Order: sequence, then structure tokens, then C-alpha cells
Amino acid sequence: NPVVPTNFIQEIINEDLKNNTYGGRVHTRFPPEPNGYLHIGHAKSICLNFGLAKKYGGLCNLRFDDTNPSKEEVEYVQSIINDVKWLGFDWDDRMFYASDYFDQLYEFALKLIRDGKAYVCDLSPQEIREYRGTLTQPGKESPYRNRSVEENLDLFQRMKAGEFPDGSRVLRAKIDMASPNLNMRDPVLYRIMRATHHRTGDKWCIYPMYDYAHPLSDALEGITHSICTLEFEDHRPLYDWVLEACGFGPGRPKQIEFARLNLTNTVMSKRKLRLLVEKGYVSGWDDPRMPTISGLRRRGYTPEAIRDFCDRIGVAKSNSTVDIALLEHCIREDLNTRAQRAMAVLRPLKVVIENYPEDQVEELVAENNPEVPEAGTRKIPFSRVIYIEQDDFMENPPKKFFRLSPGQEVRLKYAYIIKCERVVKDEQTGEIIELRCTYDPETRSGAGVSRKVKGTLHWVSAAHAVPAEVRLYDYLLLDDKEEEETEGDDFLAKLNPASLVTLTNCLVEPSLAGAAPGSRYQFLRQGYFCVDPDSANGKLVFNRIVGLRDSWAK
Ligand code: ATP
Ligand code: MG
Ligand code: MG
Repeated sequence: NPVVPTNFIQEIINEDLKNNTYGGRVHTRFPPEPNGYLHIGHAKSICLNFGLAKKYGGLCNLRFDDTNPSKEEVEYVQSIINDVKWLGFDWDDRMFYASDYFDQLYEFALKLIRDGKAYVCDLSPQEIREYRGTLTQPGKESPYRNRSVEENLDLFQRMKAGEFPDGSRVLRAKIDMASPNLNMRDPVLYRIMRATHHRTGDKWCIYPMYDYAHPLSDALEGITHSICTLEFEDHRPLYDWVLEACGFGPGRPKQIEFARLNLTNTVMSKRKLRLLVEKGYVSGWDDPRMPTISGLRRRGYTPEAIRDFCDRIGVAKSNSTVDIALLEHCIREDLNTRAQRAMAVLRPLKVVIENYPEDQVEELVAENNPEVPEAGTRKIPFSRVIYIEQDDFMENPPKKFFRLSPGQEVRLKYAYIIKCERVVKDEQTGEIIELRCTYDPETRSGAGVSRKVKGTLHWVSAAHAVPAEVRLYDYLLLDDKEEEETEGDDFLAKLNPASLVTLTNCLVEPSLAGAAPGSRYQFLRQGYFCVDPDSANGKLVFNRIVGLRDSWAK
């Protein structure tokens, strides 16, 4: 076999290929529950499952794990389809729903009952929990455990027919109430729940549990390697039990667990993300601060950067937390070669160049991308009144301030060296409102003049610049560690109140006028920015994808 394994899952697959366990097939699936939008953790699972299929010339299904109608919605199905496609993966005609198998799952349940492997139990959910025992205490058998096959068949069919109220009875597997594994203590297979399902409507009032529906869905689709996150390790004996009991022998799917992705400064569970959306802490699932695929897309992340990130983090058998700086590093690397450079002034300070002719406009030549000479050049207008960044001027600078200050010189990128002659202040407030400068006509960039100054500033021409709004983002969480296992809402106390800063008076160079939503640029000295869909009304809105400084320690 030509695949040199780079992780433990590939070692397992290679072994299966060697032993001909699955007749040479590799067939994986990505099984999201449509109860929220996909996040960067799901991207890890998507890249892993579709990536393995690709690597081995196998197949990967997209399957909606839609067995819990109370939390699932069509909106989520559509967003998941969009997001997986956008990430660059394709399932051809293999898009399935666990609900497609409801009839078959019901037939398997009848078989389990006939074989004496499942029974209808009338204990309340609370009693079931009490009877289950604990890790240190064996469970207690349900008084309904030894009902006859006939009675079980009758009751289960009547459960399906809607004769009993919600929650009044369940179907349970008859396994072992003394098992050291709590999942094996007669787990619930079916519950009664009157809820309209997004696909099957009101046809069913009993719904299968994940631990029952999942292995059977895998087996029915001919999945070979059913890859899930580590929390399901303890469920594996039940996965195998269900398949065995339902008559799936050699060649049936096997469950393999890997470590889920955790990221610093990031909440990831769908429940928590939904809370942020529902309580209005963010503008929606696609808020550019969200770790959802749709949020990252709107922020300006590329599918290539996300796939690269998933490659680099690899697949391991124990949980850890990845530094979000690595994700940022991946998008910088990608955009460094792809994003056109542009000049944008986020907090403008007016500069009048007193010795520059009033009505003159020069077209200066700017490189589109110094990393990629083929990217070519564009023209940028220069004139007597320009704007620079407020931060690039200090009236009383400390030593080593190489930007502009009274009497000092700087170079304007692609243009001339200017010198600050005078500061104009608002008479009432004392606020600096304008700088008066002179330029040295001999120093035009590219004209071969060698006079050097320490600082180079970006700028825009006042008469030509285009107004824009720029949204600067910071992490949603102040604390860099979020324990995803904590069920509470404590994370809300750690939310960063300054995760969004909106600047409404920005000015960008005229070549960006009319830039389409989704276009990405590097604003010189600022970072990478992406045109937000809110720009539709004619006013440009940019999202800062990431700053320029890379904090990823390689
Ligand atoms: P969450 O806990 O975030 O709500 P989930 O596991 O309940 O996610 P599913 O829709 O069931 O969400 O997930 C679909 C697939 O994605 C599963 O196989 C799951 O193991 C995987 N997955 C979910 N979160 C992560 C993660 N953080 N890292 C890697 N894989 C993940
Ligand atoms: Mg799940
Ligand atoms: Mg979940």
C-alpha cells in the first residue's frame, strides 16, 4: 500500500487494507447534527474524513444526524451544505439523513425485541438515572426488564402508534446493569417525543437515540471507519454491541476516536455559540468574531488557510488546546501571496504640502504585491492635500520615533520625502487638526535619489480617497482557556467587551472603490482586510481579518 501513515488513523486503515478487512474499501462520513452552524472544530473533522477518502481513493458521505427533532432546523442543513462545499469538499450523490433510515431502525428494534435483547421500560427518566448506579456502584435492574417478547412487541408498536404520552416509556437494550461501563447498563434506544421533524413531519412520535441510530446508519451506508471525537470512546462497546446484535458481522464499521480541536480564546460548542447568537452578544452565526465557518468566511478567511491549519494541527489521541495564533499564521501565509496591497488610512490626519502646486495631480506607480512581481502595478493619485494616520504623528516624540514630528522628515510610500513644518490646532480644544509640510521634489520614489529617511508612511490623497468603515476585531474571550466541558454559562463573564471596534471615518485609495464583498487586501502597515457584505449599499465596509504581526512561534 502506497500510503505512508502520518497519523494513527492511517495506521489503522493501512492495517485494514493489509488484512483485507473491508475488501480494500475506505469509506468515511462526516455526520453533523443540524442543530447549529459548523465551526472550526468541525472543519478538523471534515478535513480528516474527506481527506482520508481522497488519500485512499475512497468515499466520504455527508450525513445529517437528524434524530432529535426538538433542536434541528432546515436553516442549519443549508448552512452545513454551503460550508462543507466552501471548504472545498464534495460528496457527489452521497448526502444522507439519519432520518432516511427511521423505518429500518424501527425494524431492527423489532428484531432486538424478538431476540430478547431489548425491552420496553416504564421507569421515569429520573428513575432510570437512579437505577443506573454510578462508576463505583453497580446498577439495579428495572422491574420491567423481564417482560415477555410478546408484551414488549405490543408495547413498542403502541409506543409508535402514539398510544402513550411523551416520556412515559422507553425502549432499552438489555445488556448488563453491572457493567463497569455505564453506557452498557441497559441504554435507552428509543424515546417517545411528539415533535415535528424537518423531514419526516409528524410521521413518528418515537425517535431513536444517537448511540443506536449512529452505528446502524454507518452500517447501512457501508462505512468502514467511523471517526468521532474522544468523548465517544466509552460508547464504543455499545456501538459494537448494537451492530453485533442487529446481525452485522465481519466487515462492519469500526469506531475510531480522535482528539477534538480546542482553540485558545475561543468557545466552540454549538450550545455556547447559539447562546451568543440568541442573547445578541454577536450579530449572528456569521458574525466575523465567531469561530463558525460562516463567521471565518465573512471575516475573510480562505478555505485554503483553514485546510492548511487542519493539516498542521494533525490528529492525536489525547486532547489539547491549539494556540489561535497558528490559525492566524495560516491566513497570513496564504494572503501574503494572494492579497493585493492597498493604502488605507484608518484614523485620518490632514496634511497640506505647502510647496506642492495647488491643482497638480500625479499618478504614482504602486506594486500590487511585492511578493509576486507578476501581480503588476497600479496607479495612485498624489496631490497637495493628503491624509496620514494620526498615530504616525507625534508633536513631542520620544527618542526612536521614526514617524512624523515637527521638523522631521519621512517618506510617503511610492511618493516623496516630506518634512513637517507646522502644526495647526483647534483654537478651542487644542486638538491637532492639520499638519503643514513641505516636500522635496527630488525624492520621488523610483527616481533614483538615494537620500534616506528612517520612516515610510502610508497615505491617501484627500481629493481622491474613498470613505470606508473599518471593523477591527479582537478575541471574543478575554481568557485564553475555555473548558468546553463546563456546561454552565460562566464563559459569558469572560467575554471581551472590546472584541469589536468600528471606525467610521476611514479613507482608502480610489482603486478600492466598488470592491466586491469578499475581496481581500493587505492594507500597508495595518494587516489583512476583507470587504464585508454590508458594503452592498454603496458604502465600503472592511473587516480586519488579522493584523500583520505574527505571534506564532514556529
Ligand atoms: P459541539 O460539541 O461543538 O456542539 P457536536 O460534536 O455536538 O459539536 P456534531 O454536529 O455532532 O457536533 O459534529 C459532527 C462531527 O464533527 C462529529 O463527528 C464530531 O465529532 C465532529 N466535531 C465536533 N466538534 C469538533 C471539534 N471541536 N474538533 C473536532 N471534531 C469535532
Ligand atoms: Mg454530536
Ligand atoms: Mg454538541
